[in-house]
Amino acid sequence: MALEKVRDILKEADQNKTAILAFDAFDYNTIYAAIKGAGAVNKPIIIMLYPSMNKIISLGTFAATVKDIAREVSVPVGLHLDHCSDYDFIITAIREGFTSVMADGSSLPFVDNISFTNSVVKTAKIFDVDVEGELGMVGVAANTDDYFNTDKYTTPEQAQIFASETGVASLAIAIGSAHGVYKEEPKLDIERLKEIDAATSVPLVLHGGSGIPEKQLIEAFKNGINKFNIGTEFFALTAKLSKDFYNDSQLSANPLASYSYIRENLQKYIEDKLVLTTMTCR
Ligand SMILES: [Zn+2]
Repeated sequence: MALEKVRDILKEADQNKTAILAFDAFDYNTIYAAIKGAGAVNKPIIIMLYPSMNKIISLGTFAATVKDIAREVSVPVGLHLDHCSDYDFIITAIREGFTSVMADGSSLPFVDNISFTNSVVKTAKIFDVDVEGELGMVGVAANTDDYFNTDKYTTPEQAQIFASETGVASLAIAIGSAHGVYKEEPKLDIERLKEIDAATSVPLVLHGGSGIPEKQLIEAFKNGINKFNIGTEFFALTAKLSKDFYNDSQLSANPLASYSYIRENLQKYIEDKLVLTTMTCR
């Protein structure tokens, strides 16, 4: 089917008290495996691009590829630009066909974050594009202070002000997760999540999804997280599959062999991962 608005996909997730899984892809194979995986298990999915990955695939090619493959499945597929704090880059992505973008002003002071996010929302609105904001600091998983120090977490009070003043379609919050590979097992602050969810009406987003125990994720989804981002784990698997294949002494020179090996295994991973969302399409 045609691409769906991320806001519509998240709205349905909110009503179903669950989260939609969003994967960072970076080439034809990763996009293909993710969308086909979602189609196979009949669940919605969001495909994201990290801005720096435009060195591998251009914004326009990425957007067109997601749109193209989405037509081959019968589940809702969303297209989203992940973490971007560069206004001009975000506008370029919109011009190149992205229907949802993240305006990441989380490293800015609170008021500056609001005004940066606001400027993106204003322009995005003209093109009917959704904007995800970020409040609080979702740091790096190699630094335990980034996810254990509650001073870096989002507060319900600020979340309420931020959401109403910016008009974002969704909001990424810091409740104890981080990007990359965790040094110690993270512990999500579910109580705080409940308070933020009660203080705002926007769908909430959890970043740094590679390595959080499943039990905690299910709790988070039940209590207000409606979009869950996965990057590191998917990247690592892609690298491992290439390594495994090319280390094989029986290596075939036919690209079809390597590509189908990698793609099929990536798709299997996506299908298994998508059981985390309770949303199934009719
Ligand atoms: Zn992130």
